[in-house]
Amino acid sequence: MDYQTLLNFVPIPNLLELKKVLFIGPHPDDIEYGCGGLVSELVGLGAKVRFLIVTDGGSGSFEFGNIEKIKEIRKEESTQAAKYLGIEKVDILDFPDGGIYSIDEMAKKIAKRILEFYPDTVFCPDPLLETKNPSWPFKYCKSYSKSFIDF
Ligand SMILES: [Zn+2]
Repeated sequence: MDYQTLLNFVPIPNLLELKKVLFIGPHPDDIEYGCGGLVSELVGLGAKVRFLIVTDGGSGSFEFGNIEKIKEIRKEESTQAAKYLGIEKVDILDFPDGGIYSIDEMAKKIAKRILEFYPDTVFCPDPLLETKNPSWPFKYCKSYSKSFIDF
């Protein structure tokens, strides 16, 4: 499906009227880094905002030499950033960052969170975005799409 066809099905929402918003990000820190300003504005306007981070962030750094330590640090940083931004809930799934996992299993867990929260709008990386990165779209983007379409 091309972008224009998608827009015909799902129009761009009025951001000022959103009451419940879910941000889905691949790793801890992506949402804050990519759209922290928007998150802050939405919270300021009274929206309930949740973060869903789909991988454990274990491949985020080689600095500590210990994946468990990296996961712990990144989870704590996301939790602190969420508190600062006024986020209602941060949910971090346990899919291995850079590891092997099922797109279907991730899509099911994303769909479950969407159905539980029932947001007005979901923000996530665009799986149709054209980049020079040969591995785009990443597996998690395929999971986002699948969670919206299949479940
Ligand atoms: Zn990332």
